[in-house]
Amino acid sequence: MNILAPSDEGLQRAAEALRAGLLVAFPTETVYGLGGDGFNPHALARIFAVKGRPRFDPLIIHIAERDSLERIAAIPSLEPAVRNKLDVLCACLWPGPLTLILPKQPEVPDLATSGLPTVAVRFPDHRVAQQLIRRSTGAVAAPSANPFGYLSPTRAEHVQEQLGDQLAFILDGGPCSIGVESTVLDLSAGSPRILRPGGTPRERIEAILGAVEGPSAEQGRMPHSPGQLKSHYAPRTALTLHRREEMILLPYEPSAGYLFFDRRSRDAWVQGLDRPYDLEPGGTSRIRLLSEGGSLGEAAARLFDLLHELDKIGVSRIRAERVPDAGLGPAINDRLSRAAAAEVLAH
Ligand code: AMP
Ligand code: MG
Repeated sequence: MNILAPSDEGLQRAAEALRAGLLVAFPTETVYGLGGDGFNPHALARIFAVKGRPRFDPLIIHIAERDSLERIAAIPSLEPAVRNKLDVLCACLWPGPLTLILPKQPEVPDLATSGLPTVAVRFPDHRVAQQLIRRSTGAVAAPSANPFGYLSPTRAEHVQEQLGDQLAFILDGGPCSIGVESTVLDLSAGSPRILRPGGTPRERIEAILGAVEGPSAEQGRMPHSPGQLKSHYAPRTALTLHRREEMILLPYEPSAGYLFFDRRSRDAWVQGLDRPYDLEPGGTSRIRLLSEGGSLGEAAARLFDLLHELDKIGVSRIRAERVPDAGLGPAINDRLSRAAAAEVLAH
């Protein structure tokens, strides 16, 4: 068993492993990361191999001090106006679920950036992640700790099940509080553009910078950022995404799993069924609510966990409800629609 508690000793052992070029999975506020030394090409190559991740999908470098940014990104090459935006974003939203794309320093290995002239950097808002980064090399490359294309892990057990035997250690920090990956914001091309919706809502960024661009439909077809690959974040079970109006009118399928946004939708569906449906335990086991009371924060935090559960209990198909498009809603809908697209592409 290679799961470690994030005690002083656990963190020390995990940090030593990272310094030695080995891989360590660790908790962040978004999802669990698969970490390797960001400046060690052997460790980076191993991350791609373990995940089965194509080399054209660049990694995010995680730091734990604002000052580490200069080692990774070529800040002086930015226009002064962009540098100001960067400063305000870092002051207001770091540490947090926001990844910034910036011109890279030559010392950052090409493997980390898939040969791009830009690099993705994030400062996670999680004590265990910060301690691990500070005690190891100060710059830890970490994609989500799941096989490429599959659901992201939000608990140490998810990592253990999917990749456990290939890692030096898994630091167990309990369930992730945000539960969806970071928002990716590109600052390298003049006007800021969201490449992937995520844990920092667009509204928070726009309150600071004013209107920002993206993500656009054509980015989905031509992945400028592979987190935008149309098929991604997918369970093994086929998933169909429904608007609320559709979802509450679905006929009952005995073998399907249902993922409702909230109790209101679930109750509306049950009331509309042409025969009474037993919601007692046993009857409810294939029906999940992202959030009883309709909180988007709670829905995001539970999303991958519930998809893992439905995937495991062996339903014929997951029918999931699209959530409202505010706050963390776009990030949730993005992950659900990519999970739905995975099936289309697989056939
Ligand atoms: P993951 O680590 O799996 O959450 O994915 C990281 C996301 O950041 C992916 O969508 C990457 O493509 C994106 N990303 C990383 N580096 C860059 C870059 N230099 N330019 C654009 N997107 C990037
Ligand atoms: Mg990922």
